Amino acid sequence: MTVIQTSTTPVPDERGYFGEFGGRFVPETLIPALDELTAAYHAAMADPAFRQELAQLQASYTGRPTPISYAKRLSEHLGGAQIYLKREDLAHTGAHKINNALGQALLARRMGKRRVVAETGAGQHGVASATASALLGLECHVYMGSVDIARQQPNVFRMKLLGAEVIPVESGSKTLKDAINEAIRDWVTNVRDTFYLLGSALGPHPYPMMVRDFQSVIGLEARRQIVEMAGRLPDACVACVGGGSNAIGLFHAFRDDENVDLIGVEAGGRGIEGGEHAARFADPNLGRPGVLHGTRSFVMQDADGQIVNTHSVSAGLDYASVGPEHAYLRAQERAYYTYATDEEALAAFQTLCQLEGIIPALESSHAVAEVIKRAPGMPKDSIILVNLSGRGDKDLDTVMRELGLNG
Ligand SMILES: *Cc1c(COP(=O)(O)O)cnc(C)c1O
Repeated sequence: MTVIQTSTTPVPDERGYFGEFGGRFVPETLIPALDELTAAYHAAMADPAFRQELAQLQASYTGRPTPISYAKRLSEHLGGAQIYLKREDLAHTGAHKINNALGQALLARRMGKRRVVAETGAGQHGVASATASALLGLECHVYMGSVDIARQQPNVFRMKLLGAEVIPVESGSKTLKDAINEAIRDWVTNVRDTFYLLGSALGPHPYPMMVRDFQSVIGLEARRQIVEMAGRLPDACVACVGGGSNAIGLFHAFRDDENVDLIGVEAGGRGIEGGEHAARFADPNLGRPGVLHGTRSFVMQDADGQIVNTHSVSAGLDYASVGPEHAYLRAQERAYYTYATDEEALAAFQTLCQLEGIIPALESSHAVAEVIKRAPGMPKDSIILVNLSGRGDKDLDTVMRELGLNG
């Protein structure tokens, strides 16, 4: 059984800063709730009983450890580095999001909060939150933009089956960023009995740290597994970056291994030039330091600081900001960030299907696209570890439409 470890690294500092990024940019009324949450989180992580229960659920419910698969045919096809896949697609509910949802739901119950609120865009975090809440007997309310509700019906139905209430959000662009605003508003209003279950390594302190720690099980397992399977550490770790939780969950265990390159892949959408993307680090015209949803990081904004609309074929990467620890790792030159376009991700999706018998999530396909670019130029005895953050069943409609296929 894998027992997660609290971070031994000095970031974030007491105030939740990763260098100049992170912090708490919230209304004064939320500060006591964030302080209560931070204290409860540290107490829980210092309690062997809490960690034991989490580890037990990870094993018996989520199905951890997820395996690492050697991608033999893909490696041969590319003719360079040996490629290993960390299989978060095999976790319960089909992606890494359950790691965080389960950790936070256990914390909610420990804090005596019976009511959970969450936000969701495509519905994946809503489903993970509803799942963990059902398991632990918590009441779950999920805020979701009405535009997203219309285009993500299967996940709306899943959440309802799992006993959650899905609350349509009609403000703004009626998508994820408006749903986050509403979830925060609910939390401010009902803070005494309510826990805000945030879905990525974002938001005000302590969320980026807490989500990272709950997701760090990915890297802790993978580090041990790759040494067992390949006899040594990888030369590079690659992961897609939406809010950044699966990537930071993989990177965290390797950050002190100086010879391991850490590579995050953002959504290049229809290309950087036209601005229709979510590559916050790659487009100096739109991606600049700024504040969104309680944290300071890189934010897609126009010259007046207005948040701009992002685009990606994968809903999970389609967000205007990125976790503050990624902005920090980039500034420190510890991690490197690049992007894959919609077209490159769709091609990588098909390649992985045909060469490995694995249908990846479109988000994860962005990481695979980077591996396809990078592996051929690397020596045959080098190793790339790529995080397959989720499975692609949820994306079949999108892929059919994009490829013009009819099943
Ligand atoms: C939500 C999601 C992502 C993006 O979120 P991160 O916080 O950046 O990990 C990536 N992959 C899958 C499968 C997802 O569901």
